[in-house]
Amino acid sequence: MSKWITDAINKINADARHSADTHLFKLPIPRLEGVDIYLKDESTHPTGSLKDRLARSLFLYALCNGKITQGTTVVEASSGSTAVSEAYFARMIGVPFIAVLPKSTARSKIRLIEFYGGQTHFVDSAPQMHDASVALAEQIGGYFMDQFTYAERATDWRGNNNIAESVFTQMAYEPHPVPAHLVMSAGTGGTSATLGRYIRYKGYDTQLTVVDPENSVFYDGYMTGDCNLRSDKSSRIEGIGRPKVEHSFQPGVIDAMIRVPDAASIATMLWLEKLIGRKTGSSTGTNLWGALQIAQDMRQAKREGSIVTLLCDSGDRYLDTYHNPEWVRDCIGDYQDFDVVLEETYS
Ligand SMILES: *Cc1c(COP(=O)(O)O)cnc(C)c1O
Repeated sequence: MSKWITDAINKINADARHSADTHLFKLPIPRLEGVDIYLKDESTHPTGSLKDRLARSLFLYALCNGKITQGTTVVEASSGSTAVSEAYFARMIGVPFIAVLPKSTARSKIRLIEFYGGQTHFVDSAPQMHDASVALAEQIGGYFMDQFTYAERATDWRGNNNIAESVFTQMAYEPHPVPAHLVMSAGTGGTSATLGRYIRYKGYDTQLTVVDPENSVFYDGYMTGDCNLRSDKSSRIEGIGRPKVEHSFQPGVIDAMIRVPDAASIATMLWLEKLIGRKTGSSTGTNLWGALQIAQDMRQAKREGSIVTLLCDSGDRYLDTYHNPEWVRDCIGDYQDFDVVLEETYS
């Protein structure tokens, strides 16, 4: 094997060693006495989101499979956090990176990708990203990373410090160390696949619930078993919800799904800000809304236990959108009803 590949893998492993694990913290919600909700804070990765884990896994997978060698240009279809994280790792090992994105992508996103040395290639609309990426990679002799196919298989689901192993290790000394529930939303579906497989592998008595926003077909795909479903709308909750059932989405390891109204995601994101004094992204609101529904069910059934979900990224990336009241009014609509529920039930 070439020294270049060994060096590249070393650099990626060295980077992982530079960081401690991401924090897990318990939410202070007195009215849920007996049910503890924990957030695992994935916003503290060097590239600011849980996509740091995915990008590292995808690069290692491609390097170890001989897909990326010295000088290989890496291409990805992503307008979001995946492109940001992949640009970071591409620069680390010294290969060019091109993100294929829709023309409508926010300037702030493009700036972040460029900040990490990534280039951009624009298409007219989101549905064209995949085919354009395949074509571009072909044309320049590059490698299409293809997060929506490989996310589920690039991560070692049995452990090796994946997010599931990390959660269960960090819970070890809690009053309810084995969570009754893990709650996660799906973009690629990779994180939920890792969580679900790990639960089974270790034999934990833990239920995995996947929460899904509006305009996504994951929920219907799960309920009907039809993986050819399509939607012509895009998710309004960044990072999650897809117009088709992606290959990396693994329904077989999911115990339940909950559909979450977009306004509920926003209301919960803003409610969480009051609770912990920090801004998060909207998918964290989706996750927490789901966790709160489950907590309520547990309370009604007089069950005690813990629920773990993810803080996926920081609100700093969304000051112009989810954290801008005018934008929310125009693009999501009124979320007061959900805020009232949150205030009356949990505050
Ligand atoms: C990607 C992403 C998710 C979902 O994670 P997957 O492992 O891709 O399913 C949730 N929230 C944010 C902000 C994301 O970027």
